[in-house]
Amino acid sequence: MIASLSFGNFFPTRSPLQWVTAQLSASCSARLYGFWELRPLIPFSGGTCLEGGYRGSPVGGICVDMSGMNKIIEIHEADSDLVCQPGVGWMEINKTLQRKGISLFFPIRSTIGALDPGPGATIGGMMSSGSSGTNAVRYGTAKGEWLLNATVVLPSGEVIKTRQSPRKSAAGFYITKLFIGAEGTLGIITEVTIRRAPVLPTTVAIVHFPDVKRATEAIIDVINRSVGTQCIELCDSEFMRSINLCGASQRKCPEQDSLFFKFQGPTSAKIIKEIAQKHGGTDYQLARTEKEALDLCADRENAIYSGLALLEGSRGWSTDVW
Ligand SMILES: Cc1cc2nc3c(=O)[nH]c(=O)nc-3n(C[C@H](O)[C@H](O)[C@H](O)COP(=O)(O)OP(=O)(O)OC[C@H]3O[C@@H](n4cnc5c(N)ncnc54)[C@H](O)[C@@H]3O)c2cc1C
Repeated sequence: MIASLSFGNFFPTRSPLQWVTAQLSASCSARLYGFWELRPLIPFSGGTCLEGGYRGSPVGGICVDMSGMNKIIEIHEADSDLVCQPGVGWMEINKTLQRKGISLFFPIRSTIGALDPGPGATIGGMMSSGSSGTNAVRYGTAKGEWLLNATVVLPSGEVIKTRQSPRKSAAGFYITKLFIGAEGTLGIITEVTIRRAPVLPTTVAIVHFPDVKRATEAIIDVINRSVGTQCIELCDSEFMRSINLCGASQRKCPEQDSLFFKFQGPTSAKIIKEIAQKHGGTDYQLARTEKEALDLCADRENAIYSGLALLEGSRGWSTDVW
């Protein structure tokens, strides 16, 4: 049942012995400890992780569904941070801030486009999978300093808060980071304080290159020129073929090695175009409206569906670059 939620996951499923829904508080952490003594506890949240970290273990286990713990607890506007439960989605957070007229966002994921990678991902899951998104060029990843602290129920039943939330650092072990990317193996996260960044206007462009080497040289040049780049995504010719097969956007793309750029600032577009041309880039297309930007982004953001379109009946096997 669980793995079937992860359409892109190649690995076979193992069902947990039991599924429990969490409304964790300090008082029930002792009972949780009791469960933990019997079988592994496997937290489940948005169910979007492509590596299937929430699958049952070979000895069975108890799946703890955290998706109901989905409240934003406090918004600290003056401190640019926000306290939330682990089951709240990054999209919900950004929408709430927008609705309240607060021009700050949680930048690990894009602000453009509802179909950004992992749209159903939640803060607890993102923290536990050390996730990132297309904004990593400008803002870094969950492994940066966007997750200021967390409250965690440990396998011993003890509840800890990893640190307070000042920006300043101090000597001592960075306990918060232990839980970033731990995939629920070290404890269950029940509350997180996240940092937010100002929303700045962005636009997007796509440009095509004769080969990956030239495209890569253009990336190095752009990064070293300190242009206000928020994201740069390299899609090779095979991937561009898959985009055309999948047909997420209205356009047909040249099936060439290509770069998608998202950038801030009025002069960035011109500089990026010049750099791209210097490295053999052709057919530079800049989105002039938000609708055009969404359409351009849709091609990259549907990457997994496009990849799967290459081979009928295929399933995803995601890998990481370390
Ligand atoms: C289309 C698509 C594109 C994606 N693109 C990217 C990408 O570009 N970059 C990237 O980094 N990721 C990407 N992802 C993966 C995404 O980052 C993860 O899916 C997401 O971070 C997991 O969040 P989740 O809420 O769905 O967690 P789940 O999938 O439910 O769980 C993820 C892991 O966290 C653990 N966990 C969940 N909640 C808790 C908790 N409260 N306490 C402790 N452990 C917990 C689970 O046991 C599991 O090991 C993509 C996913 C999709 C579907």
